[in-house]
Amino acid sequence: MNKFTITEIGPSEVIQLFFPVSNFHAIVVVDNTALGPSIGGVRVSPDVTVEEVKRLARTMTMKNSIAGLPHGGGKAGIIADPKDPKKERYFRIFAQAIKDLQEYIPGPDMGSNEECMAWIYDEIGRATALPEEIGGLPLDKLGATGFGLAECAEIACPYAKIELKGAKVAIQGFGSVGKAAVKFLSEKGAIVVAASDTKGSICNPDGLDIKELMAVKEEKGSVIHYKTGTVKKCEELFLTSCDILIPAATADVISKDNVDGVKAKLILQGANIPATLDAEEIMHKKGILSIPDFIANAGGVIMAAMEYAKKSEKEAFDAISERIKKNTKLILEKTFNEKTLPRQAAEAIAKERVLKAMAYKRVS
Ligand code: NAD
Repeated sequence: MNKFTITEIGPSEVIQLFFPVSNFHAIVVVDNTALGPSIGGVRVSPDVTVEEVKRLARTMTMKNSIAGLPHGGGKAGIIADPKDPKKERYFRIFAQAIKDLQEYIPGPDMGSNEECMAWIYDEIGRATALPEEIGGLPLDKLGATGFGLAECAEIACPYAKIELKGAKVAIQGFGSVGKAAVKFLSEKGAIVVAASDTKGSICNPDGLDIKELMAVKEEKGSVIHYKTGTVKKCEELFLTSCDILIPAATADVISKDNVDGVKAKLILQGANIPATLDAEEIMHKKGILSIPDFIANAGGVIMAAMEYAKKSEKEAFDAISERIKKNTKLILEKTFNEKTLPRQAAEAIAKERVLKAMAYKRVS
């Protein structure tokens, strides 16, 4: 795993919250607020660590900056099982604990959703990606991030010398991001040949029927119950013969241990920090184009910021399409012209905006 180091950007606050009576623990990291109050998701997982939350918060600083949003980067983690029946109680307690932390605006992440945001909003009146019944733009239900991934693919495919229509796609994680990504990509003519969740992978080189796959996941709880495919282990998904590989689950899943087996020509980072830096360097040397998380998966936070600014659903989708396409082109041009890694190209642009905004702040 990549180690997070403190830089001139942040983090500005790393808070650990212990709730001994309720028997859970939470983490909040505010990385940088030069562009505005930080926005970032609340991850619920038994394994989430301070280190991971710091890295995710930095990713949000970069993502919000390059997307041109008036927000800094933050992130939270609740160390608990996302299926814990006491989840609502945890969220309400967590919300009260961050009530005065105005520089952090929570959103959904792995293990949390619009309902969880509604609980936080009910407690403290501050959260994004709310259910539509209470005036929100439910970004997971609308598939904001998956939509953005498909828009990103449209621009990135020619750089990876792939035709999107007919491209074979493998996707790790069949949750909010994964399901929406396959929906929007298949609308553009891509063929999904493999999908995975925590139970395993399902593969069929001739293509999986998306509607049936979604129904199987809904009814039976896992993609592995899909009939006309080969069931493999979770980690075998990364070795699938495909054109586009989309990690859309957890961090550090493409590393130097498995990168040599990756056959895709284009990686769209649906998850946050799904590849280690050394794996990104190896892929770059091998000519595999990997679009960094904070470019490819910015759809969700763009919609969250649009909701916060009281914009409509259409305005939010238009903003996602326009900003992700523009940024994908921008960083790929820089990557090819300057012979640099896509992540380095993107970080340079995002960092410049943050540093300029920081320069306007009073130094006390
Ligand atoms: P989710 O909880 O809805 O879905 C996650 C999926 O991944 C589930 O299907 C789960 O079974 C699967 N999964 C977990 N571990 C796995 C493993 N080891 N192998 C295979 N599958 C596994 O979460 P989500 O909202 O879809 O988020 C997925 C990722 O995308 C996270 O990294 C999140 O930070 C990132 N992300 C989400 C959004 C968003 O809009 N929801 C936006 C940007 C980034």
